[in-house]
Amino acid sequence: MTQPIFLIGPRGCGKTTVGLELARLCQSEFVDTDHWLQTHAGKSIAEIVELEGWESFRARETATLEAVTAGSGIIATGGGIILSAYNRQFMREKGTVIYLCAPVPVLVERLEAFPEEGQRPTLTGKPISEEVSAVLAERDALYREAAHHVVDASLPPAQVVQNIVTALHLACA
Ligand code: ADP
Ligand code: MG
Repeated sequence: MTQPIFLIGPRGCGKTTVGLELARLCQSEFVDTDHWLQTHAGKSIAEIVELEGWESFRARETATLEAVTAGSGIIATGGGIILSAYNRQFMREKGTVIYLCAPVPVLVERLEAFPEEGQRPTLTGKPISEEVSAVLAERDALYREAAHHVVDASLPPAQVVQNIVTALHLACA
């Protein structure tokens, strides 16, 4: 692997889970942009949004994307990374972009089972199913526009990983 692999998709689609497993299998570095950003900022995403606003968070997110792209590993991104045209083009040019695509009920079920993993504040203040549906309706086209490959993320993690390995002809299995 000579270029980074960017995993994109909404909260709960499995970017962190699949990314960690893919990195283990391919003996690559793994970076989670949300995790990196919070560590370097010394604040949680919720705190950044509350203290500085969404615009500041988005600027920090782009800076994070640029900082972590130096290597050739697996990069799990935040769900809203594709809102910026700059970020979409940056990822497409610097590496291979994979959209982990899953239907709304699957995402809702996962987020309801592990609410503490969705550390990001709600975007709309609506119930989770309405929010997931609204956010996906807004972003699905952007995920597809940014992605080189769309994979079915409703399958078990090991299967999703295998499908990425196959789609990218990765020399790890
Ligand atoms: P993301 O990083 O995209 O927000 P996570 O990897 O944190 O998503 O996954 C969210 C939750 O869904 C976690 O509890 C995780 O264990 C579960 N999960 C992720 N991918 C799958 C999958 N393919 N099948 C079943 N559960 C999954
Ligand atoms: Mg994650």
